[in-house]
Amino acid sequence: MTQVNEQQILKALEQVLDADRGKDIVSLNMVSGLQIKDGHVAFAIQVDPERGASMEPLRHEAEKTVHALSGVISATVVLTAERPPSGDAPGGEETITPAAETAAPLLPDVKSIVAIASGKGGVGKSTMAVNLALALAAAGHRTGLLDADIYGPSIPRMLGISGQPVPTAEGALEPMENYGVKCMSMGFLIEDEAPLIWRGPMVQSALQHLLRDVNWGELDVLVVDMPPGTGDIQLTLTQQAPLTGAIIVSTPQDIALSDARKGLNMFRKVDVPVFGIVENMSYFRCPHCGERSEIFSHGGARREAALSGVDFLGEIPLDIDIRETSDGGHPITVSKPDSDHAKAYRAIAAKTWEKIGLALQERQAEAPRTVVQ
Ligand code: ADP
Repeated sequence: MTQVNEQQILKALEQVLDADRGKDIVSLNMVSGLQIKDGHVAFAIQVDPERGASMEPLRHEAEKTVHALSGVISATVVLTAERPPSGDAPGGEETITPAAETAAPLLPDVKSIVAIASGKGGVGKSTMAVNLALALAAAGHRTGLLDADIYGPSIPRMLGISGQPVPTAEGALEPMENYGVKCMSMGFLIEDEAPLIWRGPMVQSALQHLLRDVNWGELDVLVVDMPPGTGDIQLTLTQQAPLTGAIIVSTPQDIALSDARKGLNMFRKVDVPVFGIVENMSYFRCPHCGERSEIFSHGGARREAALSGVDFLGEIPLDIDIRETSDGGHPITVSKPDSDHAKAYRAIAAKTWEKIGLALQERQAEAPRTVVQ
């Protein structure tokens, strides 16, 4: 496929008129942050805050226009409004989410969505997400894995997937697949060097794109690998994906646990049930002598779970086998299914599945009440 370039895109956007102002959006300097990555195009249209959501048809037209260009696999367009600085506080940008987009069910054929989160990076969240997804698939559940970790999208590599997703004739994207798990990654859509100001709006919009325009098909569970931390981006993602529940991954040290607590509070704030906490790198098993050392003072996550009133879902040791297999693209749950570690992941998956069932039941029980209100 031919590569599309910036000039071609801007040229096409000269056809998109802002009817109120009688000129096209390029001449009016409304297009900003244009990014092209392997046929995936993203940009923002800057609008006055007062015009906000009424600009949705314009946004849609711009998206359609770019999408129709040869060489474009996906087009992601967001509306941004510049907030005027008030007092000493700096001004900022906010993304306008059209009401219609938030109201429609994004994934009608996906029965449940589970977020894997952590208060900070490097605790083994992605490794957990991958092995958990594979364990769920091994138990016979139709499973997808969405890599929303914009800071280091590592899921395709851990699943042994390379290349790019293929667009369908209808303009949707086919998920990639390996070991029976369907996978999509923000890494396919967002440039590593995306300007900071772009991150928030783009991430939001890329997530919508990955939920709405990907042929996930019928899934029992979609596992989402969240970006680490509890900032605005995480909160937005949490609010945007219709989550059934969340799992927090932590190492046992106090410092990691206080971050995990923040994660827990974030989910509680937006009424997403926390299924529980998993302790990763719980203890070290020496590959030579088999001796167990509790280098990070084992058990902290179990205590934290008890203190916070959530379940403790299990512990995974620090083991070179786990690192080598996941980083090498053949995670331990599939490459060594009889190992103790694979069993531990399967046990966590079984508890997760149970929690999903309970959460869905609860939601169903609540649904009529919501309608009556
Ligand atoms: P995060 O998603 O929290 O940033 P990753 O899952 O990418 O963390 O893990 C960070 C590194 O630690 C990776 O190299 C991974 O293979 C390794 N790792 C994760 N869990 C374990 C474990 N239980 N034992 C050994 N290495 C692990």
